[in-house]
Amino acid sequence: MPGIADRLALVHDAIAAAAARAGRVAADVQLVAVSKTQPPEAVLEALDAGQTLFGENRVQEAKAKMPLLPGRARWHLIGHLQKNKIRHALALNFDLIHSIDSFELARDVSRIADEAGLFPRLLLEVNVAGEGTKFGFPPERLRAQMEELLALDRIALDGLMCLPPLALRAEDSRKYFVALRELRDRLQTEFRVPLPQLSMGMSGDYTIAIEEGATLVRVGTAIFGERAGKTWKPVAGEGFDD
Ligand SMILES: *Cc1c(COP(=O)(O)O)cnc(C)c1O
Repeated sequence: MPGIADRLALVHDAIAAAAARAGRVAADVQLVAVSKTQPPEAVLEALDAGQTLFGENRVQEAKAKMPLLPGRARWHLIGHLQKNKIRHALALNFDLIHSIDSFELARDVSRIADEAGLFPRLLLEVNVAGEGTKFGFPPERLRAQMEELLALDRIALDGLMCLPPLALRAEDSRKYFVALRELRDRLQTEFRVPLPQLSMGMSGDYTIAIEEGATLVRVGTAIFGERAGKTWKPVAGEGFDD
């Protein structure tokens, strides 16, 4: 069975090939290795293979895992952020939070960042397929709220993120990636703001996302293997209530 280093190498090859197909530079695509449910040993194995950027989807798990890993690991929060976890999340100093999914959340993050003397970098999560069960701004609501979002002065809005419906075929995701890019282009023109980051694509469809402009791909399974039934908790699980 291939190890984490082998799988990382395959992912890098696939990123390079997808970027080349789209006439893009592979260096413009950042690989976020999604380490949720993975034990620190697996993250360390990836670090030793040269991967330094990791994505966690829960604040409590990240909080427990981050101190167990060397400082050269960089972290992104990619999962839904509950309002009562904002303070914890900001204290962890994620390089980027991908999942700001409502105006109210953005407003609360800005307020708490102000109190804490921080200036977090954020992406706005868009519900590209209009799924009732999904977090994220419906595209038209994002346009309507953009002015107010830009007025929040303790946050840096860096771009957009999406998590399209689970697709049977990777190609089925393409239209959603195109929609996210077009929405980004439109917001940039309409509101005269740079939104350089597009976080889109996971293990099943990251090469398609890169063809459509992804600058951040969030890849877990293709690097770490199947997560089915996996969870990770620190041995001394104190305060681990999530
Ligand atoms: C788990 C997760 C991923 C990675 O999924 P894989 O299919 O394992 O690559 C990407 N993005 C988010 C938001 C996730 O929660």
